[in-house]
Amino acid sequence: MLIVMETSAPKKAIDNVCKLIEEMGLSAHPMPGAQRTAIGVTGNKSQIDSDRIMTQAGVREIIHVTKPYKLVSREFYPEPSVIEVGDVKIGGPEFIIMGGPCAVENREQTLIIAEAVSKAGAKVLRGGAYKPRTSPYSFQGLKEDGLKILAEARDKFGLKIVTEAIDTETIDLVSDYADIVQIGARNMQNYSLLKKAGRQKKAVLLKRGFAATVEELLMAAEYIMAEGNSKVILCERGVRTFADHTRNTLDLSAVPFVKRTSHLPIIVDPSHGTGRKEKVIPLSRAAIAVGADGLIIEVHHDPANALSDGPQSISPEMFEQLVHEMSTLAGVLGRTCG
Ligand code: PEP
Ligand code: MN
Repeated sequence: MLIVMETSAPKKAIDNVCKLIEEMGLSAHPMPGAQRTAIGVTGNKSQIDSDRIMTQAGVREIIHVTKPYKLVSREFYPEPSVIEVGDVKIGGPEFIIMGGPCAVENREQTLIIAEAVSKAGAKVLRGGAYKPRTSPYSFQGLKEDGLKILAEARDKFGLKIVTEAIDTETIDLVSDYADIVQIGARNMQNYSLLKKAGRQKKAVLLKRGFAATVEELLMAAEYIMAEGNSKVILCERGVRTFADHTRNTLDLSAVPFVKRTSHLPIIVDPSHGTGRKEKVIPLSRAAIAVGADGLIIEVHHDPANALSDGPQSISPEMFEQLVHEMSTLAGVLGRTCG
């Protein structure tokens, strides 16, 4: 439910309505707008007594939200959300490119790649310190040592860092180091992890599960927002289909759907979306054209010896080319690129 207040409603009237909502055992989310304040209501499991709310001073209208997701919906927040990570703003006019290795393998490897990412003009470094691997015998990540290497790269090159949290035991540690906490495809419906991500303060990059619908992605984001963290960035990273020419099928149609249905920003991961380095630039062009807010790209200076995802990792030279192309396309589309 969304309560729309009169333009002239004073703060006291808004506070009173919020108080009433809380007394009814529900949660109130006041949203000041340019014209008037709206108050989102969540937590209702049955019919709410609308008459009681309608008769409060300053209430103009009640809108019933029919979708199962509320806080992530455009009905609740009509304007696009811009997620601020320091001076990096995701969801605004600037198209944001994140780049880096799949995994932090060692200090030297990460610093070489971080320097290349920064030199190319990108502002966010990616890299997994905790790796969710299909095989238990594959490299699982350097864990806290990896987080420390990422923090060093951040300080050295003035980058923000995005890194994955894979379980509820380690998310707080990851959050201490990260600027953006990534929740990966395998964990998109790990509700205890989503709730913990919602209770920590850093922005969250939520990747679509490889067998999840876009509505399920939005519902997963709702879990994070319902815990009080509204800094959620969605990521389309491909879903599993019968296609065998590509690792996953990158569902770019998710982008305009999300843009219409939700106020949250959405970025695209053409590295996991395709699994092949030669497809990364073409799909990146498509991603910016379809309205994505940014990209997350795997980059490696020695992909043949990468400990994970070498075949889809582009070289620092290709990354530079990609940033250059995105800047050109951003200009055509009335955006900037960083
Ligand atoms: C990753 O970003 O390295 C990763 C594991 O991604 P995903 O969760 O999309 O598979
Ligand atoms: Mn990877």
